[in-house]
Amino acid sequence: MAMLRGKTAIITGSNSGIGLGVAEELARAGADVVLNSFTDRPEDHALAEAIAARHAVSARYIAADMSNGDDCRALVEKAGGCDILVNNAGIQFVAPVDEFPVEKWNQILAINLSSAFHTTAAALPGMKAKGWGRVVNIASAHGLTASPFKSAYIAAKHGVVGLSKTVALEVAGKGITCNAICPGYVLTPLVEAQIPDQMKVHNMDRETVIREVMLDRQPSRQFATVEQIGGTVVYLCSPAADQVTGTTISVDGGWTAM
Ligand code: NAD
Repeated sequence: MAMLRGKTAIITGSNSGIGLGVAEELARAGADVVLNSFTDRPEDHALAEAIAARHAVSARYIAADMSNGDDCRALVEKAGGCDILVNNAGIQFVAPVDEFPVEKWNQILAINLSSAFHTTAAALPGMKAKGWGRVVNIASAHGLTASPFKSAYIAAKHGVVGLSKTVALEVAGKGITCNAICPGYVLTPLVEAQIPDQMKVHNMDRETVIREVMLDRQPSRQFATVEQIGGTVVYLCSPAADQVTGTTISVDGGWTAM
């Protein structure tokens, strides 16, 4: 399938987890891809080389720290602009709001929310000039609902949903769409890292936390996969989604239906 041949996609935070899965699926659909994270190691560049080889597309890795606004804008500039922008970089921290470390709050807001503002601002002029563009923000079921102990993450993800709607309105009718995907639990390093914290907060063992706490809200009791999130991004880049804008697509096993 080469539906996206000739398009360039930037995926922030894509050296692991959902971002890497999205990059893989966009490349499978023919897009040239730009991978990103804040590290600049040989293994980061090797990920891009492997995708290029597997899918006969151009793939690059560009290091940029999404907690820094100038770095976010420089990423888009170094990539030479993009047709598809996937704002995926994100981190999590779990603590009661009255004990939430201020620096963690600021870091989560910067990486999970403000980065999408900066990259979108940098990418839109090029998309407007071409009359085609896709901005896909990876929000969360926590962009639509809340859970205790995740104040910064949930505030940032609700913010991403609001930003997506606003951008969609500003570019409506210009061939550019902006949407947010709201995954439920996808088993990635980010989720893996939450398990010890959740075990402590709830005083439960690993298996009980997974079954009773994490997948308690996901009626399917199954994790979503990175391929499914990637496939949803590819759909949003397809002609079938030309009029899908300013909305959220949940990939959450029924979480937000409850
Ligand atoms: P992950 O930890 O595997 O991936 C996060 C990515 O962001 C990594 O590539 C990491 O290197 C990158 N990153 C972190 N800080 C960065 C920074 N300062 N600059 C640049 N890159 C940075 O986690 P994931 O589960 O794949 O999460 C990806 C996105 O999906 C996040 O926005 C997360 O909130 C969202 N999400 C995940 C789940 C889930 O269950 N895994 C559910 C809903 C939403």
